[in-house]
Amino acid sequence: MNRLRKPFIAGNWKMNKTVAEAVELVNDLKQQLGACKGVDVVVCPPFTALTAVSAAISGSVLGLGAQNMHWEKAGAFTGEISPQMLRELYCHHVIIGHSERRTLFGETDEIVNRKLRAALANHLRPIMCIGETLQERQENQTEQVLQRQLTEGLREMGAADLQQITVAYEPVWAIGTGLTATPDVAQAAHLFIRGVLKEIGDDKTAQTMRIQYGGSMKPENAAELLAQPDIDGGLIGGAALDADSFTAIIKAAMPREK
Ligand code: PEP
Repeated sequence: MNRLRKPFIAGNWKMNKTVAEAVELVNDLKQQLGACKGVDVVVCPPFTALTAVSAAISGSVLGLGAQNMHWEKAGAFTGEISPQMLRELYCHHVIIGHSERRTLFGETDEIVNRKLRAALANHLRPIMCIGETLQERQENQTEQVLQRQLTEGLREMGAADLQQITVAYEPVWAIGTGLTATPDVAQAAHLFIRGVLKEIGDDKTAQTMRIQYGGSMKPENAAELLAQPDIDGGLIGGAALDADSFTAIIKAAMPREK
């Protein structure tokens, strides 16, 4: 972690938790976290629980995010949710381009770009997910893949846009598998990503943008990952579904007093 950038931990609940379970989880989190200084924390429940979670976290340190959205404002898009609909529920963040959306639902870099631009136009702060598959890593394609996902996904965006975006580096082979990138491997990817962000924007923008690590981050490995200079937080899947483990990760991200 770098003191220029406030650590940012987000929980991606995926297709988990009924409304009642979601409220129970955020109530437990609120109790365990208390005032929680020095870390930004966001929970991203399924669409069905956004309203109830929004009410339950009001006045707490927790922020609200969605896991996906469409880029259009309204229309014949059965099953989709617009950025305006998310804002109405006091959502301030949205995950865009998660690998599950890319692989299971066919999201391309072009779609990711459209969604990012629509999110920004509606004052939603995107968490843009990027990452290579196991095969791409084994074929030494990691940097090329990250470069392409960033360049295409962030097309036509200026420094002011980039500053609203958090990038989540999520090696696909580490998501939900229990395999975590070693701190060195993750740090190398984050440093590379920051270099690409510098090319796309400028040095100041690249130094202020937060890059989260995602992929089987849990209480046992969080501190070591978060100690890396270019890892500014985490996007947490499985471990965000349990108040004790999510709290432990957030505590690992809290800046230490010198
Ligand atoms: C994720 O889905 O964004 C994720 C990182 O999942 P997990 O922590 O379960 O690997």
